Amino acid sequence: MDDDTKKRIKEIGGEAVLFDVPMSQYTTFKVGGNVEAIYRARNLEELKEMMAFITDGGIPYLILGEGSNLLVRDGGLNGVAIVLDGYFASVEDNNMAEPCILSGAGLLLNKLVNFCTEKGLAGVEFLAGIPGTLGGGLAMNAGTGAQEIKDVIREVTVLTKKGGILERRDSLNLRFKYRELDLSIGEIILSAILNLKRDKPASIRKRVISIIKQRKERFPLDMPSAGSIFKNPEGNHAGRLIDASGLKGRSIGGAMISIKHANFIVNKGNASASDILALMDLAIIKVREMFNIQLSPEIKIVGEE
Ligand SMILES: Cc1cc2nc3c(=O)[nH]c(=O)nc-3n(C[C@H](O)[C@H](O)[C@H](O)COP(=O)(O)OP(=O)(O)OC[C@H]3O[C@@H](n4cnc5c(N)ncnc54)[C@H](O)[C@@H]3O)c2cc1C
Repeated sequence: MDDDTKKRIKEIGGEAVLFDVPMSQYTTFKVGGNVEAIYRARNLEELKEMMAFITDGGIPYLILGEGSNLLVRDGGLNGVAIVLDGYFASVEDNNMAEPCILSGAGLLLNKLVNFCTEKGLAGVEFLAGIPGTLGGGLAMNAGTGAQEIKDVIREVTVLTKKGGILERRDSLNLRFKYRELDLSIGEIILSAILNLKRDKPASIRKRVISIIKQRKERFPLDMPSAGSIFKNPEGNHAGRLIDASGLKGRSIGGAMISIKHANFIVNKGNASASDILALMDLAIIKVREMFNIQLSPEIKIVGEE
């Protein structure tokens, strides 16, 4: 990124722009090289101006949630990482006859769950304990064996890359798949309306606490990771296949296949992205050799080698 580009990005975003920042600070894996610029978008007008500049200039960009499903390679990220903050991280109870909330895509899922619990709005308890933002949750169709985010979505608003137009899409016009939402390249999810049901806050809280307890028992939450590394192959479980390949506890550099859950790779403290990628390759090869099943990553892998 040349100096004139940096200057203009700073003029638009002001204090909300930082340059040359380690992505290890913005990902739950706590690895990754530097990003050229990171911008915390706070309002629509400014975001549109920034998007017009970066798309006209052909500058690459990545929408960054909490970085909880992201592996940034050690060579870092070219261009701008855009975080949705301020207005984009707010939530309101729509107080309509049919209970629903309008939430910004930058809102953290745990704040969303807490907000709904306090308001006596049930339906998103399954998201309790899943790190990330609503935008990242939608882009990944986050969920559990029981439920996915698609099940509670009424409508999503996106900022299209072409012309920076706001587009509202109802659930019939959203193509969710397993851990995926079909978006056109460069589209940014700005907000969503979620359908909920009324219930007593105490009952909702009980369910949330129970879900969080189960997650603590199942997953290695005391070490940095990006959650499930691979998608579950049809009719099977990636974790079981990796475990049966004898890879639980296997380390490369500072990365290790978790002993608690084999579909988690954890950072023992000094892992590089290459260590994690090498372990992923090992798991793919072993599972293919032993079971003739091809694992495919659930996490998004971005950046330069
Ligand atoms: C300990 C742990 C446990 C986890 N458990 C689960 C689980 O049970 N179920 C599950 O589904 N996932 C789980 N995950 C994975 C992760 O939490 C989810 O995928 C989460 O939804 C990612 O949200 P994020 O905001 O961090 O997205 P990021 O990781 O920042 O981004 C993920 C992708 O979404 C895109 N994106 C983010 N925001 C937007 C937006 N506003 N518009 C367009 N694209 C966007 C990014 O560009 C990127 O491609 C877990 C992760 C961890 C670390």
